[in-house]
Amino acid sequence: MTDRRSDLDFKAVRGALETERSELRAASQALVADRKPVILDQQSVGRLSRMDALQVQAMSKAQESRRQARMLAIDAALKRLEDGAYGYCAECGDDIPAKRLDVDPVTPRCIECMS
Ligand SMILES: [Zn+2]
Repeated sequence: MTDRRSDLDFKAVRGALETERSELRAASQALVADRKPVILDQQSVGRLSRMDALQVQAMSKAQESRRQARMLAIDAALKRLEDGAYGYCAECGDDIPAKRLDVDPVTPRCIECMS
């Protein structure tokens, strides 16, 4: 058996998840710092049209909510690692194939339950 949960390198998974989470957090904080000058710039200089500025803002908002969702998923995966539930499908309890976890280490469900 090479594609089983027991073959997972939990330490490596945890490390990768923690790294990704701190990168996301840093990106999110950088965005907060960026947001104000963009708005001020748009009002005082008028380089961007209002529509452009709104579009940029909507895009960064969408990016930010994707980041937040990803951070929640990472937190949940880290909790499952702690609880010893990591690598089991949250719905049917089966092993999630290691290959699937390689592709997305935060996935809580097997492919059957996901679809
Ligand atoms: Zn399942």
